[in-house]
Amino acid sequence: SNDVDDYKSSMRYGNVLTGKASEREERQHSIAQQRKTLPIYGMKNDILRVVRENQIVVIVGETGSGKTTQLTQYLHEEGYSKRGIIGCTQPRRVAAVSVANRVAEEMQVELGKEVGYAIRFEDFTCEKTVIKYMTDGILLRESLSDPDLEKYSCVIMDEAHERSLNTDVLFGILKQLASRRSDLKIIVTSATLESEKFAEFFGRVPVFRIPGRTYPVDIFHSKSVVEDYVEGAVRQVLQIHLQATVPGDILVFMTGQEDIEVTCETIATRLEKLEGAKPLLILPIYSQLASDLQAKIFEPAPEGTRKVVVATNIAETSLTVDGVKYVVDTGFCKLKTYNPRIGMDALLLCPVSQASASQRAGRAGRTGPGRCYRLYTEYAFSHEMLPANVPEIQRTNLGHVVLLLKSLGVSDLLHFPFMDPPPPENIVKSMLGLWFLGALDGGGRLTDLGKRMSSFPLDPPLSAMILAGERFGCSDEVVTIVSMLSVPSIFIRPPGREEEADAVREKFLVPESDHLTLLHIFQRYRSNGCRAEWCNKHFLNSKGMRKAAEVRSQLVDLMKEQGMELASCGLKWDIIRKAICAAYFHQAARMKGIGDYVNLRTSVQCYLHPSSALAGLGYNPEYVVYHELVYTGTKEYMHCVTAVEPQWLAELGPMFFTLKEGNTSRLEKQRQEQQDRLLMEQQHEEAKREKEREQAM
Ligand code: ADP
Ligand code: MG
Repeated sequence: SNDVDDYKSSMRYGNVLTGKASEREERQHSIAQQRKTLPIYGMKNDILRVVRENQIVVIVGETGSGKTTQLTQYLHEEGYSKRGIIGCTQPRRVAAVSVANRVAEEMQVELGKEVGYAIRFEDFTCEKTVIKYMTDGILLRESLSDPDLEKYSCVIMDEAHERSLNTDVLFGILKQLASRRSDLKIIVTSATLESEKFAEFFGRVPVFRIPGRTYPVDIFHSKSVVEDYVEGAVRQVLQIHLQATVPGDILVFMTGQEDIEVTCETIATRLEKLEGAKPLLILPIYSQLASDLQAKIFEPAPEGTRKVVVATNIAETSLTVDGVKYVVDTGFCKLKTYNPRIGMDALLLCPVSQASASQRAGRAGRTGPGRCYRLYTEYAFSHEMLPANVPEIQRTNLGHVVLLLKSLGVSDLLHFPFMDPPPPENIVKSMLGLWFLGALDGGGRLTDLGKRMSSFPLDPPLSAMILAGERFGCSDEVVTIVSMLSVPSIFIRPPGREEEADAVREKFLVPESDHLTLLHIFQRYRSNGCRAEWCNKHFLNSKGMRKAAEVRSQLVDLMKEQGMELASCGLKWDIIRKAICAAYFHQAARMKGIGDYVNLRTSVQCYLHPSSALAGLGYNPEYVVYHELVYTGTKEYMHCVTAVEPQWLAELGPMFFTLKEGNTSRLEKQRQEQQDRLLMEQQHEEAKREKEREQAM
């Protein structure tokens, strides 16, 4: 996304390539010094020996010990890069980019040359690249076209304790690959002691511990339940800042962007009213933040002042802020969780686990004794928090991963070596979802359509939309819509100018569809020369638009590789709505009242989002499909909506809908769905029994 873009441009030509020679030398010198003080530094030879003697190694070390930035360089210096790329996976995009920047600077090379990174829709590597940071999703996709990962001599699976869905799947893939490629070095790194489990999983491989250099952290729990964690955090920060005599920075663990912004603003306004208070540098960090601002968290606060970094759980282990002495922990984070009621993933506010809470506290004791203020009671910590995080694989929709695994030839998902297998009903649900879209056949086998869908790095419904666009002769338009859906919202509403922004936006609206509205905006953007000024004038985020154009050209390349034609339907936009329907017919709703709908499959009530083109123009079609549901705490809102014809639903989703007196017969649909589910479950059971038989033998 654009944040990453900003990051790149602000960092790429950072102090390495510009700046005065003396400054540059000074900075290089201090970086070289800093590298030597990292706990991993003294372990270099021991680590290289374990790696030489073992194919797979687990390395454990406190956050900030140098695992992410140093291991790749050590392997490179040792000569492993002569045999292939040294790859390092990260669960978070921001971490991949930030760390690649840092390592390029440490090695005094230009980012994208010897040291590069790759995240979805953004490959910043070249033939010269020997150290490559990437998201775990990228390596997973690469294994599709290169199952033996021939390009790599070493793969570091970093941040394994995060247990991201893609890392978990990579575990299984690399475990199988290890026997085929005895020359491939595999390193799994973790910041926590769950490492034994990783070692066990890979066949009792050695665990190497980087001795920690941590200082005691005093932990203070709240005496009573904190009603408002934002307010609680603000007060705690001010108290520390005003009363603590010991210098040192403050790190606040907040939940997400919105809460972080409010926290920062409130701290700033309260501080302004206090006379004689010392200055406090207030720095937010979250993934959508413009990236020059992200880089700021690494800069030391000016002499005599203090900084407070207000972060999501990205600062738990992915990024290390030096100089932190005080931690304020709200005890919450946002987690992507599958919600069976609405049948999809949603970001939910959840209490953190005890393991996360300890990690957070540990951030205060890196350079000296520290303090951690928990905005929850001791009772809540010991009785209400789970000991460890629930792995993502056990709580989210697996559609994309199931499709990838099927394309990798894993026909029976129950035999796949998952470290913690997902609940079987999640697998069955995801398989059902893929079957609706035609990616799997009734026996759970990958279809031709499914094979083609898997070549796009997109959620299955969006890949399905591209393929439907091709079938209906509107792939040109559909690929634009998919690109626009793949970047953060491009609409800007500057504070104080909301009405003006809304008025401009209204001119773009296409009454029957938010998807077509996005298409319309992109077409106007292009016909106006893709100019930033044009975007600014129309309250559109120019970086977002540029990113959408980039994503589009990459998707078009992928289509061409598949031999797909880029065909335009001209002004026959109804056809596009039908292609949209083909992607989302399983997310359809029927009107009950003005702006008021009921989901055709779950019968849950849902509403047109106020920002929808349909709501804006007061258009209430009988049937709609939607991109996603957003729950605001009181109501379920449909986000990105398109009006559809009932006969399309019947034609494209015959497993759900039949046209009966112009209506869908829900009973019939439910019966059918029940039947299909039974069939899948049966197959699932059979496979399970087979596995048990095998194990018994
Ligand atoms: P680990 O992976 O073990 O948590 P890292 O290799 O990420 O440790 O970090 C080692 C050191 O490098 C830390 O002191 C951290 O602050 C510093 N560092 C990492 N990235 C950056 C960056 N982008 N700018 C400045 N310092 C950084
Ligand atoms: Mg790290």
